[in-house]
Amino acid sequence: MAQQEDVFKKIVSHCKEYGFVFPSSDIYDGLGAVYDYGQNGVELKNNIKQYWWQSMVLLHQNIVGIDAAIFMHPTTWKASGHVDAFNDPLIDNRDSKKRYRADVLIEDQMAKYDEKIEKEIAKARKRFGDSFDEAQFRATNARVLEHQAKRDALHERFAKAMNANDLDELKQIIIDEEIVCPISGTRNWTDVRQFNLMFKTEMGSTAEGASTIYLRPETAQGIFVNYLNVQKTGRMKVPFGIAQIGKAFRNEIVARQFIFRMREFEQMEMQFFVKPGTELTWFEQWKKTRMAWHQALGFGAENYRFHDHDKLAHYANAATDIEFHMPFGFKEVEGIHSRTNFDLSQHAKYSGKKIEYFDPETNESYTPFVIETSIGVDRMFLSVMCHAYNEEQLENGETRVVLRLPAALAPVKLAVLPLVKKDGLPEKAQEIINDLRFHFNCKYEEKDTIGKRYRRMDAIGCPYCVTIDHDTLNDNCVTLRDRDTMEQTRVPISELRNIIEDKVSITSLLKKLL
Ligand code: ATP
Repeated sequence: MAQQEDVFKKIVSHCKEYGFVFPSSDIYDGLGAVYDYGQNGVELKNNIKQYWWQSMVLLHQNIVGIDAAIFMHPTTWKASGHVDAFNDPLIDNRDSKKRYRADVLIEDQMAKYDEKIEKEIAKARKRFGDSFDEAQFRATNARVLEHQAKRDALHERFAKAMNANDLDELKQIIIDEEIVCPISGTRNWTDVRQFNLMFKTEMGSTAEGASTIYLRPETAQGIFVNYLNVQKTGRMKVPFGIAQIGKAFRNEIVARQFIFRMREFEQMEMQFFVKPGTELTWFEQWKKTRMAWHQALGFGAENYRFHDHDKLAHYANAATDIEFHMPFGFKEVEGIHSRTNFDLSQHAKYSGKKIEYFDPETNESYTPFVIETSIGVDRMFLSVMCHAYNEEQLENGETRVVLRLPAALAPVKLAVLPLVKKDGLPEKAQEIINDLRFHFNCKYEEKDTIGKRYRRMDAIGCPYCVTIDHDTLNDNCVTLRDRDTMEQTRVPISELRNIIEDKVSITSLLKKLL
């Protein structure tokens, strides 16, 4: 575990050192849980967004996109339930003065029981070797059964308290489980209180009567309030979807784990409107479609899992998360929810507008049900980084840090490197870039030895480098180096586009989805 934490720290510093992610307002020592994307980060982030957008809008004829404003009429958030219920239960430790989410403290405690069980299993596997039967061990070992029973009891009690919004019970669980503050090590806890996660601001001057408005905590409501606009002007027929990418803001109590939990972040959401009664079939369909999107990146199926929700929002009739194996465990990257017709009905009620769909085939009107897929761009970015980051021992005894990014997501696709800064080699390099820059992102580098330049390109995940040498001026060939295999081949300049373009394009990923 400690080793995994070390790796995570290295990833965070690598992100800063190579221009992927900086703390916000860095010269003022940063701002809690707010980050800026640097010159390489923004390219990677844009590629992730493009991959998502094109998979939704280009590959589905019945999905269209919108870009709604961040500010919305304040009634939106009354109707959606966010003003009254977008809360986290928080608790303070009186000694360390640190604030925690009560639910997270309890979930961490459950994870501790899981860890204990895993430890027992690992020990037994070592002892019994090949003859070890894990299922049987889990079912019969006294210590495992004891931990499992405690975990299950805690889980049941926790789910009940959360569903009933019982804050006293949450505190009691923390006391009974003897959970201590990780900083002070004491159990000197305050009561649990609800804390609304929406940021507020004011619109208009006070003289003309300013009104409180919110920074949107999710992009989804921008889609719901535009349902009628899009359906009518786009002549959309159910089933159809509306996709959107945009910023969302949450005043997270405990901001942890770098860009995993931020106060300002970006979401890619798609609301799919379906006929009531068909929603669970579509829910299953979207689970498959979204998992395939993740797995097309080639990070290994074993690094993903579905986690079905115990606690369903009162309006949802199914919900699952897609979790990715981060260095700090399996964590949610995307949520898929069957939200019934809750949002559209609420907006109809609060706005007084009829928000329905007239089905020309059956001559009936209904309020569509909704399947939502909601993924955080930043969490996706983090999962890509965590998987890509590799420290490798080379045959010559050196180590290299290489980002094995899927080529289609890499910020720079081709580095063009003249062997020396003279003899017309830089000009030749520039010629190549002038030709290829219309097709993919190229970077020119002339400083330092070729070896050092290769390392720098490995560290930003650039899949291809070409070296221009003196022979190039005569034979119009360059040495092409592959990031992953480090193999070098001599190829004609005229072939470069053919060799590289297909492998680095988003289309190459999209084709895997069909
Ligand atoms: P969590 O339980 O981790 O707080 P959530 O269940 O509240 O997340 P949703 O409301 O379902 O998250 O949001 C959909 C997606 O938006 C999440 O799967 C995640 O990728 C992203 N997301 C949510 N909150 C944050 C945040 N504070 N920072 C970065 N990404 C976030």
